[in-house]
Amino acid sequence: MSPLPLGTMGRVLEVDLTSGSARTHALDERLAELFLGGRGLGTALLVERLLRLRDRHRNPFLAVDPLGPENPLVLATSPANGTSVPTSARFHANFKSPLTGGIGSTNSGGRWGVEFKRTGHDAMIVTGRSPHPVVLFVDAGGARFDAPPEADLDDVEAITDALEARYGRGVRVMTVGAAGRRLAPIAAIMNDKGRALGRGGGGGVFGSKNLVAIAVAGSVPVEAASPEALRPKNVTGSVYKAHVKLRLGKLTKPPEQFGILPSMGTAGLLGMLSQYDELVHCNFRDTSHEAERIERIGGEALASHPAITVRRRACYQCPIGCTRETELVDASGAVVGRGEGPEFETVAMFGANLDIYDLEPITEANYLCNRLGLDTISAGGSIGALMEIFGIAQAKPAEARTDGERALMADAAEFARACGSRVPDGPDGDRFAPAFGNAHALVPLVRAMAWGEGEIGRALASGARRLAERYGHPESAMAVKGMEIPAYDPRVTWTQAMSYMITARGGCHLQGGYSAPIAFCAGYGEFSGLKSEGAALVARNFAYQNTAYDVLGVCAFAGFSVTLDEYANMLNDVTGLGMKASDLEAVSRRVLTLERLFNLLCGFTAADDWLPGRFYQDPIAVEEGTAVCPEGDFRAMRAEYYESLGWDERGVPHAATLTELGLDAVLPAEDFERMTGLTVGGRARNGREGAR
Ligand code: SF4
Repeated sequence: MSPLPLGTMGRVLEVDLTSGSARTHALDERLAELFLGGRGLGTALLVERLLRLRDRHRNPFLAVDPLGPENPLVLATSPANGTSVPTSARFHANFKSPLTGGIGSTNSGGRWGVEFKRTGHDAMIVTGRSPHPVVLFVDAGGARFDAPPEADLDDVEAITDALEARYGRGVRVMTVGAAGRRLAPIAAIMNDKGRALGRGGGGGVFGSKNLVAIAVAGSVPVEAASPEALRPKNVTGSVYKAHVKLRLGKLTKPPEQFGILPSMGTAGLLGMLSQYDELVHCNFRDTSHEAERIERIGGEALASHPAITVRRRACYQCPIGCTRETELVDASGAVVGRGEGPEFETVAMFGANLDIYDLEPITEANYLCNRLGLDTISAGGSIGALMEIFGIAQAKPAEARTDGERALMADAAEFARACGSRVPDGPDGDRFAPAFGNAHALVPLVRAMAWGEGEIGRALASGARRLAERYGHPESAMAVKGMEIPAYDPRVTWTQAMSYMITARGGCHLQGGYSAPIAFCAGYGEFSGLKSEGAALVARNFAYQNTAYDVLGVCAFAGFSVTLDEYANMLNDVTGLGMKASDLEAVSRRVLTLERLFNLLCGFTAADDWLPGRFYQDPIAVEEGTAVCPEGDFRAMRAEYYESLGWDERGVPHAATLTELGLDAVLPAEDFERMTGLTVGGRARNGREGAR
């Protein structure tokens, strides 16, 4: 076994909230070698912890309640966190997801992860449920349990302010708001006030533990193997070279050279994606937007809006600085709110997706999501499904509506009354009708969702899939594995579609490869994203790349300009390892395969690697004709993707793959077979083939 690489702290903090105990143990050298950090280490620790429950459950992956005390919440950092490696702020959370029932996996930037690592820990595993609300405080001396602050415990900002006042300004706070405290499956964990571990319902898991906050104050330096090479001003060093690449990249070059991310923030992507017919519209009905309407909500509009003040901000060690801190005032000049964002996904999912082209309600809804702890992609996707079904019901005479549609109209009337409307004729035409284009309804809907208020609020908080089933239109949920997909239409970019389909955590544009904006970077005509031939392998390579970023703890945006080879060089200067890009890709394959095993243990099959039906059935108009996802092509691409990873036609890894990747040491094939009834590399014992 290799000794631990430099850049790691060598310790894992274990917290049991039921007994109120915390202890530290050594980081397993074998796991550090196989998975490095971040998403890889977090997934491995989660798997290891769930396997320990086999004395209680035949298959703990299936049996453990995501919102119960047995579900571990793992927070993992990476060797590069806390060093001068550009964008090395990102840390990871893993858990069993209350939204999908499979792996929960999400990362965040800001400063919390770096500060936590500087307490002398690589990871934290939180289990149990505290008998009373509690704050966990961690520093280099260890962990202790403190009383919650005298503050509104539903408000992320109030909790953060109170804990910063209690522990000192250097402290970094992670918490959840109203949505997490009410166990919403689309609740986010928030850190540094405005940064989110957003996807998959980690906020609900956090809240289910009666955990109010985790405050961290670090003081332990992170050691590196070649500090000189990491000095940003050393012109022969790896970090200097990466900075040069970032200064030249089309999306990352400095604001004065109009790099989109530095000059406009992520909202600057909106116009570009709309131009290429990729941008969601009305719950993925089409991608048609009038250019003039997009201009009202894009990056330039945000930067120059008379009611919104914008300041550029950055995560730890990030020269890109895509973050926008904003303040919104009303017509009288009174402050409506302030905070981080809105980011691209928020503007797209609350704006273009809902046919709302007004930055003021979008920005206010964004602040609410920050303060009350909601994932804005899932929130926008859930409202999109609601508005679509409302439109279907509204178009019918009352007597022709189905039971689900009648329930929705009744719930919409209740919602409108709660908003103070007189509802003279029910929700039709009402000021608060949950209809596409109705900007008045947006902020009240987000508030109801976060607080779980009323039938509509509870339905929205449960996510698009459960909402659409409740109202009798499951086809309106634009979700994969139960997680709402982001703002890029898969019919227009098939590699991005593959990421949505196959990513273990559900409908996601990042973990399976963020290829949608590449059309812009690479030159649209050169990009193979729309061709079935090769698209699966292109998608697989993007998945390797983005998984490597998550393992390294760096931002995917830096990957637009800095290659994996260059990141491998920086990692080597931190760790002293001699890794190449291909070694990082091997780690990525190991992580993707372990995530696959996790989901198979949770009962997922190849049928879950599939897009919502409309993407196969309903072509959309694009500049050069129409675009759709042909089912036959997509089945073939899925099979090719599986094969390229060493998985069989069911998406079950071959025994040889597990051995090659060293995964036997983490999850023995025999244990996997016993728990699932599946055989690795052969036919299913119980006849479940899984593939559609
Ligand atoms: S590019 Fe943006 S999200 Fe990424 S590290 Fe920099 S500021 Fe944070």
